[in-house]
Amino acid sequence: MKDPLLITKEEILKFYKPVNPHTHKGLQGHAVIIAGSYGKIGAAVLASKSCLKSGCGLVTTYTPKCGYQILQISIPEVMVVTDENANFITNIHLPIQPQAIAIGPGIGKELGTQKAVFEFLRVNKTPLVLDADALNILAENQSWLELVPDNTILTPHPKELERLIGKWNSESEKFQKTIAFSEKYKVIIVMKGAPTYIINKNQIYENTTGNAALATAGSGDTLTGIITSFLAQGYEPKYAVKLGVFLHGLTADIALPQTGYQSFIASDIIENLGKAFL
Ligand code: AMP
Ligand code: MG
Repeated sequence: MKDPLLITKEEILKFYKPVNPHTHKGLQGHAVIIAGSYGKIGAAVLASKSCLKSGCGLVTTYTPKCGYQILQISIPEVMVVTDENANFITNIHLPIQPQAIAIGPGIGKELGTQKAVFEFLRVNKTPLVLDADALNILAENQSWLELVPDNTILTPHPKELERLIGKWNSESEKFQKTIAFSEKYKVIIVMKGAPTYIINKNQIYENTTGNAALATAGSGDTLTGIITSFLAQGYEPKYAVKLGVFLHGLTADIALPQTGYQSFIASDIIENLGKAFL
């Protein structure tokens, strides 16, 4: 196994693109966030808001009917398209052609949602981020991973990773299995943790930002929104993922002196994105 390469500010600045003063929202990318189910619409809110707060020009959220008012009131800047079902996603129809799509935060694992994920993956050609319950659904239906575009980004936390690659007996076995998985399905895997690693085939990157304040509900949902934002803005997946992981961690490093570990919540990630960019 190769030594990991560190994701530092210097590395990030080699490919980071400042905003063009002559741009307009139509050039800043349109992202779709497919997220939420009854009782978990907050996941859709967190992912969508962090996507918008990371420079994406337009964000459309696809969610069950019960999420409509919550999203429109929580984030007036986001457009909302609802599923025909009240409480969970059953049939993903997108009336637009976005530049990037995320699917997973808070979607649950209802049979109807599993079928909707399969049908979506069967037709989708847009750059993709898979998180949370989308990963859990794919862990139980691994052949569906053959359907995802090359360089699709997967963002499992340790339990989700275990469901995807199986149990490991040592750290080195965990890396070997994750590398094999990345090579087999041609996907980029964000091994979330302390620290977070990015596995892109046999390349391993280790993030240098972030702290234990990030161990809080909804933290991963914001990471999904941030990475999807950069994909929509035209960053190649290998760069979108590094930039996303680095900035997500940086928000917690910036906020820590004000919040301490205990009082930091996922909304603080979103609140501190501006300072992280600056
Ligand atoms: P999730 O479990 O999906 O909400 O994702 C949690 C996020 O918080 C991931 O980006 C993790 O890397 C990050 N995280 C969780 N615990 C820690 C920790 N102790 N130190 C640094 N980052 C962490
Ligand atoms: Mg998560």
